Amino acid sequence: MLNLSRVLLAAMLLVCAVAWGATLESIPNQRLVNGSHVANPDGIIGADATSEIDQLLINVEKKTGAQVAVVAVESIGQSDIFTFAQHLFERWGIGNKARDDGLLVLLVKDQHAIRLHTGYGLEGTLPDVICKRIEHDYMVPAFTTGRYDDGLLAGLNAVAKLLSDPAYAQSLKPAENPEISTSWEIFKYVVAITGVIIILITFGIKSLNGYFLSTSDGGRNTPKAMRWTRKQWLMLYAAIPALIVAGYDQLPIISPILMCSVTLYGYFILTMIIQAWRQQQTINVLFKKNRCNKYAVINELITSQQSFWGWMALLFPLPFLVYYFYYLSRKSYYRNHPRNCPKCQASMRKLSEQEEDKFLSQAQQMEETLHSVDHDVWQCNACEATTSWGYSGTETKYEKCPKCKSLAYVEESGRTLVSPTYSTRGKGETIHACQFCGHRKTSTYSISMLRDNSSSDSSSSSSSASSSSSSSGDNWGGGNSGGGGASSNW
Ligand SMILES: [Zn+2]
Ligand SMILES: [Zn+2]
Repeated sequence: MLNLSRVLLAAMLLVCAVAWGATLESIPNQRLVNGSHVANPDGIIGADATSEIDQLLINVEKKTGAQVAVVAVESIGQSDIFTFAQHLFERWGIGNKARDDGLLVLLVKDQHAIRLHTGYGLEGTLPDVICKRIEHDYMVPAFTTGRYDDGLLAGLNAVAKLLSDPAYAQSLKPAENPEISTSWEIFKYVVAITGVIIILITFGIKSLNGYFLSTSDGGRNTPKAMRWTRKQWLMLYAAIPALIVAGYDQLPIISPILMCSVTLYGYFILTMIIQAWRQQQTINVLFKKNRCNKYAVINELITSQQSFWGWMALLFPLPFLVYYFYYLSRKSYYRNHPRNCPKCQASMRKLSEQEEDKFLSQAQQMEETLHSVDHDVWQCNACEATTSWGYSGTETKYEKCPKCKSLAYVEESGRTLVSPTYSTRGKGETIHACQFCGHRKTSTYSISMLRDNSSSDSSSSSSSASSSSSSSGDNWGGGNSGGGGASSNW
């Protein structure tokens, strides 16, 4: 009976050990057991590597007096590596008491974490920056592929080199490590605030509603196939970029800003390529339709997207400047594409500017003169029937006349009738007139009150909803005895 309960207790302890990871007590101080520098209770380090490490560290101790303990465990449960290292360091009392020249190298496999924990006396030779550098350059690359022996040996060799020749630090010292983390914080803020502003603009501006599928668009010219649902859009332009930035926060990378910028840039180029692909799909669908005006519809579509691609050519010139010119060439390609007569299916030909006038209405001719619409007239080679297509002209100030429907309605004049004051609203009037039929309309509008600028700094309360947490997993030494060193994750 007694035996059975002992077995049960042992089994429970084992389960606990597996569930909670190694405890301070459960890690054998190998130095006291068999003189080895390596505690390897979970068999993470191979036998060859263990003896190699021992040989190296014995030499280091002989030469410099510094004592190095290497501990590799599967898990330390929920503890964080810094606290655990600090406690283990204190418990074992690594290093000579007078010189405090101990170093604990702790590897925690399930946390993907490595820490060089330095004693007081070693903080000069092994400052945190150097510890971090050694972890990053020599250890983490091997750990990421599961080569724990290689990583430990490479890191410890660098440590040994440093301890016996402090001048070696010069070749390791990174030029501007602390600045990078500061500018990384700033970078994250800039990305977050820019993202929030873009989201607010996209969802706030009414005219962009046609960009999304969910709303009725009131004749916006973005075809349905090219529009996103709000969910898709948020996914593409908010969630994934946020993940990219968050991802670099977790990775031990020397210049996250550079990597992140390059990745974000590449990612946005990818979204543009998707957008261009969707557009081309839409054009293909339109092109397959056996309708005579499909060329004009496609041309109109291309025109409506032109300013978008113009901006993209500016922001991402590398692929999209070329695409932009391709896009423009497509526009004239579809406009001048040979087409067939809607009546007899025979081929048609485009009339020259001189020839076309007699087939255009007076209103159309006025639009041509105003450059609000550019009309093309095509004539059938067989039956001589004509069809005309209007394309957006260079002059964009004209609107559709409410009376004759021609694009010749323009704001002729505007004036202030009553000036606003600090206490009353003002009134203004605009006169719209149609250049073709002469239709005129006077409308009044109110002008908001003047504002005392000296006391109001209103409307500058921009919402910066996202804050960036700065827990980067690095434990920069606390200055207490043994609190120096650095951790890295992979
Ligand atoms: Zn015909
Ligand atoms: Zn009119």
